[in-house]
Order: sequence, then structure tokens, then C-alpha cells
Amino acid sequence: MLPWFSSIYTSLTTRYLAKSLHHGLLFSGVKGIGKFQLALELSHTLLCKQSSVQGPCGQCQSCNLRQAGNHPDFHILESEKQLGVDKIREGIAKLIGTAQMGGNKVLLIPKADSMTEAASNALLKTLEEPTLNTYLILITNSVNKLMPTILSRCEKHTLGLPTEQESMQYLVQKGFNDVSPALLGAYGNAPLSVEDALSGEDDFSYRLFSDGMRALLAGDADKQPQMLANKWKDNAGQVALWCQQHAHERFMQRQQPDDYVRYKACVDAVKTLQHPGVNKSMVLFGLLKQFQR
Ligand SMILES: [Zn+2]
Repeated sequence: MLPWFSSIYTSLTTRYLAKSLHHGLLFSGVKGIGKFQLALELSHTLLCKQSSVQGPCGQCQSCNLRQAGNHPDFHILESEKQLGVDKIREGIAKLIGTAQMGGNKVLLIPKADSMTEAASNALLKTLEEPTLNTYLILITNSVNKLMPTILSRCEKHTLGLPTEQESMQYLVQKGFNDVSPALLGAYGNAPLSVEDALSGEDDFSYRLFSDGMRALLAGDADKQPQMLANKWKDNAGQVALWCQQHAHERFMQRQQPDDYVRYKACVDAVKTLQHPGVNKSMVLFGLLKQFQR
């Protein structure tokens, strides 16, 4: 369990054990704080045959099936793009009838805001009159995008950010020893977003950025501002934030006027890049030139 969610987790499990937990739960909060992990952990508790306030026992048949990834009464509804009505109906159909393991049935919807209007309407009836022993857990980064009718039928939990100390401890435990508070800040203080970016094997990650910057600062002929600006233009906003963090750290270390000028340029670039229609490659080029040796 993520330490910053331990108190809400304990309160939810306590209520579940006292048979007073609502069947429709909604977890909202910014991206990268671990809402899905909390929902997953709670699902495990709901499915376990002998769960306690500490969570699932980890030993019963239900726990074994869940650990093997094939619990017949646990369903996650996901979709690459929008979550359509067919997918929702398919999910609801799995909740009808007795649980195969004789306990609870859980349906998890990680991106509830991706439901179409028709999909939301299809889910309403189940939220209003749930099938027996059923729990629905909805998660969203943008609660405003959910239909009011869905919101009014869920028990809502707005999950906040961990403290800086909690985030840093988490990242160190994950093996990221070199994360600064500024980098954490660049990701909206959301530790799981930092983790994703640092471990990402995507086309674009913090590692790729820092390799490029190192080469740029060293005056490497292959890593010229124009080339990097073109390569990074689709992630221009993120790059500007990382540059800002980089400049800030250097200024704090060396207290050189040059570093302050760069930092200021980054702050301006971050603002400029928020305007739609701006030439991102050009803004980045202007910014990266400042870092070139
Ligand atoms: Zn168990």
C-alpha cells in the first residue's frame, strides 16, 4: 500500500468489514498519485475470503487466483480511446448472477471519464440497483468530465497529493536516488508520474532528455539546438519544464548570472508554449540555444 493512502485504505476496509461500504466508489485526484493502486488493493480486500483491516490474507483460494491474475469475479474495464456502451454492457453482464467464488464481484473502471454518454447511462442502472455482492470502483483524473448522474450515485473520494517527503521516500525505495524536489515539482509533485518518466522506454523520456542536454552542454556537434528542438517539439512543454528545473538546480549550485538568465528564459518558454498555435520547434530552439556552449 502506498503510505500516503494508508489512512483512507484503513477507513475503507474498516467500513467494508462493518458492512457499511458503499457499492459504488469514485476515486478522483491528479494523475500519478496512485489511485489505481489504491483501487487494486481495495479490490483484493473485497475479494479475499478472510480479509482483515490489514487487507487481504494473501493465502486463501481467492487471493491465490487474484495473485495468478485470473480471479473470475474481478474485472477491469479499459479501452484505448473512449469507453463505449458495448464494453460497459459486457462488463455489467459479468456481474449478473452469483460470484463464481461465492464472494464479492468487483468491476474496476480506471478511466471513468473516458465513458461515452451512452456508456455512462448504461452504467447508471447498475449504480442505482447493483447486483448482489457487487462493488464498482471508478477512477478519474478529471472528475468534471463525469456525468452528474454518475457522480451523484457514487461515494466520492478526492485523493490528495503525498507530501514531498513521502514522494521522495517512495522514489528512493524504487531506486531513483537522484530525484530532486524540483524534478518532482516538474511533474506536479506526483511521484508515480516521475517514476513512469524515469523508467519509461517510450520515444520520449527524462533519460533521453538528460542525455541530449548533457551533449548540448558539452558542445557535442551531433546534438545541436535545432536538431533537438525538432526531435522534442511534440513534448515541448515538458522539455521546457525540465530545462527550467535543470537551470534552477545549476543556479542554486553555482549562483552564476548566466544560469539565472537561462532560468528566466525557461519560465518564459513554459508560458509561451501554453498558447495554442505557437511554433513549438522555434520556441524550443530559442531556449536550447541558451544552453549551448
Ligand atoms: Zn485471502
